[in-house]
Amino acid sequence: MLVRLMYASRATEAVRPETLVAILRKSTHNNALCGVTGVLCFSDNIFVQVLEGGRLPVSKLYNRIAQDPRHTDVVLLSYEEIDERSFAGWSMGQVNMGRLNPALLLKYSEAATLDPYAVSGKVSMSLFNELVATASVMSLP
Ligand code: FAD
Repeated sequence: MLVRLMYASRATEAVRPETLVAILRKSTHNNALCGVTGVLCFSDNIFVQVLEGGRLPVSKLYNRIAQDPRHTDVVLLSYEEIDERSFAGWSMGQVNMGRLNPALLLKYSEAATLDPYAVSGKVSMSLFNELVATASVMSLP
C-alpha cells in the first residue's frame, strides 16, 4: 500500500544554507532506511515537501517532521493512496529554485512566488510534477 502526502510549513527562523543541507542529509539517510522517497522545496521562508512510501512509514515520518521546531504552521495539502511513485529517484530530492522559471509559478498562482497557503493542494501537486518533469530537482552532492 503506497501513499503520497504533501504538506507546507513556515520556517520558524531564517534558514541558512547549512540548515537546509543538514535537513536534506538527515532526510536522505533516514528515508532510505524506511523506503520513503520525495522532494523538498524551500522558498520565501516556506517549505513544501512530498513524501511517498508505505502508509505506516509515511504517517510516522509526517508526525515526526510536524513536531520539528525548525518550522511551524504545518498544513496537510494532500494525502492519497497511489499505484506508483512519482519521485522514486530521490530519498529526498531538493527543488533547485535557481532553475525555477517564474513563469511556471505564474502558471499556477496569482504571483510568481511559492505560496501553497494560497492555492489548492491539487495546484501545488501539479506544480511539483512540472518541476520534476523539467529536471529542476537535484540530490545533495
Ligand atoms: P536526531 O537527528 O538524532 O534528532 C533528535 C531530535 O532532535 C529530534 O527530535 C529532532 O527533531 C531534533 N533536532 C535535530 N536537529 C535539530 C535542530 N537543528 N534544531 C532543532 N531540533 C533538532 N527527517 C527525515 O527523516 N525525513 C524527512 O524527509 C525530513 N524532512 C524534513 C523537512 C523539514 C521541513 C524539516 C524542518 C525537517 C525534516 N526532517 C526530516 C527532520 C525531522 O523533523 C527530524 O528532525 C528527524 O527525522 C529526526 O531524525 P532522528 O530520529 O535521526 O533524530
